[in-house]
Amino acid sequence: MLILLEFVLGWVYKKPQTKVYKVNFLIYVFNRIVGRFIAIGMVGFLIGWLQPLAPFQTSGTWYWFVYGYIIWEFAHFIYHYLGHKVRLFWCLHATHHSPEDMNLSVTHAHFFLEAPYADTIRTSICILLGVRPELLFLIMFIDGTYGAFIHVGENLIKDARFGWLNHLILTPSHHRVHHARNPLYMDTNFCNLLNIWDRVFKTYQEEDMEQKPEYGITRKINSGSFVDVYFGEIIALAKDVWYAPGIANKLAYIVMPPGWSHDGHHKTAKRIRQDYIKSLG
Ligand SMILES: [Zn+2]
Ligand SMILES: [Zn+2]
Repeated sequence: MLILLEFVLGWVYKKPQTKVYKVNFLIYVFNRIVGRFIAIGMVGFLIGWLQPLAPFQTSGTWYWFVYGYIIWEFAHFIYHYLGHKVRLFWCLHATHHSPEDMNLSVTHAHFFLEAPYADTIRTSICILLGVRPELLFLIMFIDGTYGAFIHVGENLIKDARFGWLNHLILTPSHHRVHHARNPLYMDTNFCNLLNIWDRVFKTYQEEDMEQKPEYGITRKINSGSFVDVYFGEIIALAKDVWYAPGIANKLAYIVMPPGWSHDGHHKTAKRIRQDYIKSLG
């Protein structure tokens, strides 16, 4: 309903963002059919395999719920961080970052293998650390619902910092920062609801109201093309691997962060952000 309202408001305000809605809708249909089935299978398999290995099991009390949520958020951080820092995983995650506007349809912009990849890491960590499957499903439901909401666009909520809440939890404002390619904002705010791990690992960044988020990825893409949004990063990686000299360089392209180059001219997000902060003095 929120997506529909946001979409209609886009037409009313004459900022319809049709390109983003169209491509995300196509991706949504494809992912529902293929990606979700694989992910659900993986989760079932991992629970059956790893639960007997956990040293202890949580019970249904409130403090175990808090524990479970903190562990889940940690596992989410790991999956999401690797999705930005390992080029192969970036190929799976980049689809989610290609939209050049922010609205609720971006929630559904994912490469179909990203859900299996994300749920493998998140489920494994949670189950091995004793989070019971019932608790895991409850947390997944809350996380999924809130994770959709943080993509709310400026057409629906202009200032999404929500006052003091911005200091307490991860708001849509934080996630707008995450989706932005402004040098200050690149590769920050990897959490979903509780941003404790961004603070622990020093990837926390608030929205600077002077710096409007510029959404999208740094590679020039045609964000209205399903093929470019969906397969563009895989094609780019394949090209880099093909033309790289020697087997070590070829492998490095697969595991090093996006922007890494064998000739030493790195343009990684970390480097760009550091240079920007240094240039401010
Ligand atoms: Zn991301
Ligand atoms: Zn997002």
